[in-house]
Amino acid sequence: MKKTGRPFILFCALAVAGTALAGAPAVRAAAPALSVTVSMERPTAHYYRVVVRADGLAGAAQDFKMPVWTPGYYRIMDYAKNVRDFRAEDGSGRPLPFEKTAKNVWRVRTGGSTTAVVSYDVYAFNRFCADSYLSDDGGFITPAGMFMHVGGRLKDPVTVTVVPAPGWTEVSTGLEPVPGRPGTFTAPDIDTLYDCPILVGNQEVLAFEAAGRPHTVAAYDLGAVDRARFTGDLKRIVEAAAETMGELPYRHYTFLVIGPGGGGLEHLNSTAVALDPGSLATPRGYQGWLAFIAHEYFHLFNVKSIRPIALGPFDYDRENYTDLLWFSEGATVYYEYLLLDRAGLMSRDEVLDRLGSTVASYENAPGRRRQPAALSSFDTWTGFFGRNEHAAASTISYYDIGCGLSLLLDLRIRAASGGRASLDDVMRALYRTYYKEKKRGFTARELRDACEKAAGAPLGEIFDVYARTTEPWDYAKPLAPAGLAIDLEPKPVPEPWFGASTQDQNGKAVVTAVEEGSPASLAGLCAQDEILAVDGRRVEARSLAQALGERKAGDRLEVLYARRGQTGRTEAVLTERRRPSWRITPVADPTPSQSAFLEAWLKLP
Ligand SMILES: [Zn+2]
Repeated sequence: MKKTGRPFILFCALAVAGTALAGAPAVRAAAPALSVTVSMERPTAHYYRVVVRADGLAGAAQDFKMPVWTPGYYRIMDYAKNVRDFRAEDGSGRPLPFEKTAKNVWRVRTGGSTTAVVSYDVYAFNRFCADSYLSDDGGFITPAGMFMHVGGRLKDPVTVTVVPAPGWTEVSTGLEPVPGRPGTFTAPDIDTLYDCPILVGNQEVLAFEAAGRPHTVAAYDLGAVDRARFTGDLKRIVEAAAETMGELPYRHYTFLVIGPGGGGLEHLNSTAVALDPGSLATPRGYQGWLAFIAHEYFHLFNVKSIRPIALGPFDYDRENYTDLLWFSEGATVYYEYLLLDRAGLMSRDEVLDRLGSTVASYENAPGRRRQPAALSSFDTWTGFFGRNEHAAASTISYYDIGCGLSLLLDLRIRAASGGRASLDDVMRALYRTYYKEKKRGFTARELRDACEKAAGAPLGEIFDVYARTTEPWDYAKPLAPAGLAIDLEPKPVPEPWFGASTQDQNGKAVVTAVEEGSPASLAGLCAQDEILAVDGRRVEARSLAQALGERKAGDRLEVLYARRGQTGRTEAVLTERRRPSWRITPVADPTPSQSAFLEAWLKLP
């Protein structure tokens, strides 16, 4: 580990290595090329200034386009809405006329000029891994929402220059640095540019080597976490992934910790993750953070290189549909636990505990009997992010159910092949065949073929029934060869059932969703009601949860609520709710073959 105090030293070292390995892309003025410059003179105004210069143009007009989404975050973001003061000129500074032809397209009348320079401001005040942020504490750039490209020219090489705000010294990104030109980077094409977010400011920078490659952690705030332990654990995760897959498809990798909030996004040779340092204070919180990082990191393989055919080359103008996100996301969740186990950071019992919790989270979800995993994947563009009451009642998380499908796939492949193959072999085969040889994504049929080849047996139950319908699954059979059992017996849940989810809105307990058939539903409560008092006592979000926790099934609650400016009174009778725990545990007296199966699967006792 090395903390670099001075900016750019690490980047320059990497650039030299990069040049020696592959040669820097040559950019000539006349050849088709894009150069973009982003500056940020007054961070508290939250506007980046962007200049895009396109060379080697031909024709009377060019479309300058801002993507409507960024890969990995399957939601239309309409980044063009943040643009203002668009201007265009030719290579000698003469203004060029332009018009908007779509929400994200500016058509510039270049009149045969081979160069066009467009400039604009981008509003950025949303600290989120799929958006951009700028204030006096630093900046984060999601390139798909910052840099326009010329329509039809996604293969153009790009030079990126980042001019930090006064007093800021660090620019952290997976882009290739240009030696001797601090803040200047190159990308071989637009797809690479859009896959390399940029953190700028005075962030802490840590460096470590793993599997023979340089790795950087650039962090807005790591709190009190032990730096040596943290980078040491990251190194173990990287090495576990490299050993699982056989190689690493990058020359250098950067972990960008962008600040407080939630979520993370995978990229080509970097990841951008939010972090609340307080969450690292407990051992379980720290382990959860490592699992989260392992997830984003393993995406380097699963979704970035091992990918469904719909996910690249991307269409940046619209939704890119696939019904395989249950595999791209769910298997990545599954590998969080496998990698942590292989890295010696999560015990077998902890893995089984987390797998059981994941199974419970989708099996107990109201949408389990309504939406299959494949449909959940396909409908992510409208159903997954920004969830409302309807989504909570009707959809399923392809992360969770995809982890369950991956678990069953792995167990089935291991059992059917007599322990000779596993999901690892499928991952390596997909990586080799589609990423390295065919240089394309795979179809649903090809994914299934790869799994069936590894198993040496048909897997129709998993692919046709479990992934595509809402039929119940048989867990006991695939878990048995590992000497594991799952608790399917419905037992009373400790807390009595009320059935209304509430959110704290400035101290108010506002109902966000009411489960069908629940006591809250039978009492006539509905979303957007504010719960004012229970049994004559004023409640807020926190005290409501506390009040419910102190009751038992059969208790009657008198609820005073407000709806559309009027108050109302109703009575809810709390009931007992019985559910299986879905806990996965080893059987008491496993056979030698069951013990061997389990030990081959989860290494760390
Ligand atoms: Zn993911």
